[in-house]
Amino acid sequence: MRKSPAISPVPTDSVPNQDHAGSQGVARPPNANKSYTEDGRTVLPILLDQFERHGNKTGWQQQEIYKIGAEIDGRKTDLPCYSFTTEREGPAVYLIGGIHGEEPAGPNALAKSLALLDHFSDQRTNQRTNPKTSDGQNKKRPKEGIPMVLIPLANPLGYALNWRYYDHPSDGRQGHSVGDSEHLLLREDQQGPRTAQAASEYAARFTEHVRSLLERYPPLLSIDFHEDDDIRGPPYIYSQGPLRSEDLVAKSVVQLLQKAGMGLQMTGKTTYGEEIRGGIAYTSDGSIDEFLAAEKYWHDDRAMIKPAARSVIVVETPIHGVALERRIAAHQSIIRRLPQLWEMVQERA
Ligand SMILES: [Zn+2]
Repeated sequence: MRKSPAISPVPTDSVPNQDHAGSQGVARPPNANKSYTEDGRTVLPILLDQFERHGNKTGWQQQEIYKIGAEIDGRKTDLPCYSFTTEREGPAVYLIGGIHGEEPAGPNALAKSLALLDHFSDQRTNQRTNPKTSDGQNKKRPKEGIPMVLIPLANPLGYALNWRYYDHPSDGRQGHSVGDSEHLLLREDQQGPRTAQAASEYAARFTEHVRSLLERYPPLLSIDFHEDDDIRGPPYIYSQGPLRSEDLVAKSVVQLLQKAGMGLQMTGKTTYGEEIRGGIAYTSDGSIDEFLAAEKYWHDDRAMIKPAARSVIVVETPIHGVALERRIAAHQSIIRRLPQLWEMVQERA
């Protein structure tokens, strides 16, 4: 879940780190500046290296959205948040991971799936796999590669520290989400944004980056890979698109998670009182997911039309009591089905 209530607020006797010009202060409670490895997650330098190598592949463009200045294991460092786009532009799949640092399964699953994503994005893939008939024509119309926007590790500092936010371990009232989009989302009367300013410098840059891609990569399908650290019960996924719990893509994701052995809460209400149907909930939470699904947003002092994603899925896997390896496998099972999910969305054109 994204806006869960405070889990266990850490005493706020920390000193903001102002060493890095241009970076926001990073609160450092005692003993929290060591990189976190207890759950077996891929350590940050290796993960970043895997992503950077992906950026060097033909057919992909790598961009650095921002760097977060920090001190980890006694060393000052700048941790980059990368975005990768396919050379092929057009209606696209957005894959987002690691908005919350204590939810490592998504970024790890995306790192393990880079070769597969490269395959899905390659327009030659189907020409290779569709055998030709005697007259040299492909039996099936060769499909084009899937245009993609991949932001696999949105909050690298949170990941390194196992902190939910880059500036706080867990408390949503003190910490800031890099994906917060309230400054772009319209308030109810549509006469202005919900907040005058971005929640943080990183949220400003993250959303500006996504905004800058809307024209060349209009989002059709978005999958944001999260996890749920609530100990009170199993998670449910979110479907932020117009079809909400009736979205077949969301229903497929529920099935894939169940098949991967992830328990989900199928009915009842969310922590915030929203209905859960078939393991799927909808929430207006001001997140990047809500922004991708929105038909309008606030820009240049006015409401503007934007391409709205048809399916916006927020994946959730339970953190407590389930080994990270199994959670990663569950996220991977969704990524593996991307061509089928993509087809489902396109059929609704
Ligand atoms: Zn999350």
